[in-house]
Amino acid sequence: MSAGPESRDWFARALRVQPGGVDSPVRAFGAVGGEPLVIASGRGATITDVDGRDYLDFVGSWGPLILGHAHPAVVKAIQAAVRKGTTFGAPCRPEIELAEKVVELYPGIEQVRFVSSGTEAVMSALRLARGATGRELIVKFEGCYHGHVDHMLVAAGSGLVTFGQPSSAGVPRESTALTRVLPLDDDETLADLFAREGDRIAAVIIEPVPANNGLLLQRREFLQSLRDYCDRDGALLIFDEVISGFRLGPDGAAGHFGITPDLATFGKVIGGGMPVGAFGGRAALMAELSPQGSVYQAGTLSGNPVAMAAGLATLDVLEREDGWARLEELGTRLASEIEGVLETTQANASLARIGSIFWLALGSRDLPRSAAALAPSAAETYAPIFRSLLANGIALAPSAFEVGFLSLAHSARDIERLATTLQRTLGEP
Ligand SMILES: *Cc1c(COP(=O)(O)O)cnc(C)c1O
Repeated sequence: MSAGPESRDWFARALRVQPGGVDSPVRAFGAVGGEPLVIASGRGATITDVDGRDYLDFVGSWGPLILGHAHPAVVKAIQAAVRKGTTFGAPCRPEIELAEKVVELYPGIEQVRFVSSGTEAVMSALRLARGATGRELIVKFEGCYHGHVDHMLVAAGSGLVTFGQPSSAGVPRESTALTRVLPLDDDETLADLFAREGDRIAAVIIEPVPANNGLLLQRREFLQSLRDYCDRDGALLIFDEVISGFRLGPDGAAGHFGITPDLATFGKVIGGGMPVGAFGGRAALMAELSPQGSVYQAGTLSGNPVAMAAGLATLDVLEREDGWARLEELGTRLASEIEGVLETTQANASLARIGSIFWLALGSRDLPRSAAALAPSAAETYAPIFRSLLANGIALAPSAFEVGFLSLAHSARDIERLATTLQRTLGEP
């Protein structure tokens, strides 16, 4: 299976004028081979490429599209907003309404600031944490992704605490020298770090549902111990809920685990498919931000009325239509169908699933909880499965370590189709 002639033509044009032909690396299909589809449109759970071929989509633009593509309520809200002007660089009603919504729904957030991407939300939250605590160290976990801000692009070593080594060219060693990288699910290393450097730590940042390197579901106790160490030593706990926020439920992973962070970062779902990020926390902490406080943070298009309208419409549909409960039902169905497939085909794999986020852990019969536990063979095993599903009109993410997303546009039949196609694929010798 390869991309159709129109997709290939367009992508050849892209390759001439854009590095790798893309604006975000994983879109280039590097990990699975072949050429990416160039997409013309999306509707509900279906995307259509420029050759007019339809695909049942489980990527959902990597997380934002919790209602599916071009949901009528979101389209309508965007159209209504855009008619009134696209940006003012001044306070506007939809940003205040969306801020009120976040404050109402998410535990521990009294104030919120909007930005234009998840990366920006994390970058700003970390600066705020450093400014508010007067400390410099940031702790992150191997396998968690927090966007492409310099001091989060840190290579992880094996085992013990790793001192910041940049994982990307162009990141100075100095930018990562104040970042500590710990393995997930490892109580001892965490205890060691806090024993040695607890009083220098400004913040611990984690994806409470790590979903950027497989789906490495954590034990609640591990997350609770982060909360406890931070409280004991005066560090801030930041939940990066860019994927999990407003997807797991109205109160995100914080509500799911019953653990309240000091700061939370959002993106993806909160923008309803438009470029939005946000971060929030208690009012006294948020007051450290300019103009009230001394931590500088700004954005020309932040709180953009069109983007805010898309986010508001998305949350509104989720609330009115019992969205999170329906997504949980779909997720339960998907898990039982796929687990059935893995059993009948005796595949060396398991399914990780929480709410509407799922991931096929190839090469692992026990679900991995840390990056070190990931099966090294997964990438190689995944490529032919991905290609076979795509040839059958089903789009999963083009990487073994990216999760899948369900939306309210998916039906029981869509899930059944995924399961039967996967069964055929895995059953092939
Ligand atoms: C996607 C993501 C980011 C970065 O968001 P962008 O909008 O791509 O900059 C940060 N953190 C997590 C957990 C993410 O999944």
